[in-house]
Amino acid sequence: MIVHAGLLVTMDGPPIADAALRIEGNRICALAHRDSLPPAPGEHVVDLRDHIVLPGLINAHCHLDYSMMRGAISPPKSFTAWVQRINALKRSLDADDYLAAIQRGIAELRRWGTTSVANIEAFPELMPRIPPAPLRIWWFYEMIDVRHRITTEDVVAGALSFFNQQAPGGETGGGGLSPHAPYTASRTLYGLAAECSRKLSMPVCTHLAESREEFAMFHDGSGPLHDFLRDIGRPMEDCGHKQTPFAHLWHTGSIDHSWILVHMNELTEDDFALLETAPTERRPHIVHCPGSHSYFNHSPFAFRRLQSLGINLCVGTDSLASTDSLSLLRELRRLQTTEPSLSARELLETVTLNPARALQRQGQLGALTLGACADLIALPSPHKVSELAYDSVLACTEPVHWMMIDGKIVA
Ligand SMILES: [Zn+2]
Repeated sequence: MIVHAGLLVTMDGPPIADAALRIEGNRICALAHRDSLPPAPGEHVVDLRDHIVLPGLINAHCHLDYSMMRGAISPPKSFTAWVQRINALKRSLDADDYLAAIQRGIAELRRWGTTSVANIEAFPELMPRIPPAPLRIWWFYEMIDVRHRITTEDVVAGALSFFNQQAPGGETGGGGLSPHAPYTASRTLYGLAAECSRKLSMPVCTHLAESREEFAMFHDGSGPLHDFLRDIGRPMEDCGHKQTPFAHLWHTGSIDHSWILVHMNELTEDDFALLETAPTERRPHIVHCPGSHSYFNHSPFAFRRLQSLGINLCVGTDSLASTDSLSLLRELRRLQTTEPSLSARELLETVTLNPARALQRQGQLGALTLGACADLIALPSPHKVSELAYDSVLACTEPVHWMMIDGKIVA
């Protein structure tokens, strides 16, 4: 099959005007100017000459489970109040509600051009009931051992039997482990998750240093999150030792380049120094969620500083319980307002090349190159000028017109 594109944004070299792309099976096997790559006799041609064609976008952090919660929780006075509110909402929903939410979330991701998503799954027991998704999904098994009656060993055993019984993500996606956050997952659980992930060669994802309340809990042993968790029975002896949430986790010795750290808003000078102690190629990946960040009014995210440390920075949406859309381009436009010095190309890297690397699929996803997976999307193109390609992509507020995942046209 040949795809003709008005403008091809490969994310691997300059954009190509009037381009042609040959797909064989699920792979890209040639790309060039249209004149140099004519269709073979009888070869199917997809005409996208009025479009910009680019790699399918990769959402580095999402919770499909909560896709029915858009607008359900007004911006809260405190992060803890939000945690309590979402816990109450979760208790009012049943398995069918969550299954419907996951489908709704998948449809919205696709509508806005996402072809791969790193999804944190709080209800992995529902997965056998989820039909094969027309989307690459990395199912990150959420692990929490803060509650009574659930031992750390039970949580790990549950995750391992889950991965033994099924191949999450089927042929196109993948799986991972996700100890939820240092305030809900013990250091023992983090250590075991790291060990399991190493053995299974899977990425690990966690929420870290998100809120001022998490910082106060660990550093000062005080504040609303501290008191709430103490009252539900969390052992609090790891709090109040002037240690930051990041240092709390870093000193487990588990964090390396297989880790995806989500949020990382509350970092001190000492935290940056700790990050620098690891060789650049072994530093963890970091995900920023601009909409959720602004909803909670978190401390500024140190994009440029982390970037200067060679950290691989990705963008995700988080869930619809703390943002209003699963559109990654919308998230990038938000990020552009807080980081105006970032170029449109740099912004697009955070939803293509960078998350592909975080998911250990560099060279296969997030770029249109020879041998890469055929995951492409097409956007309407007001400009056909290569220099404006990245800005035109970023400015697009329309749903995608056409999408291919793994060599199959799906929209
Ligand atoms: Zn999250």
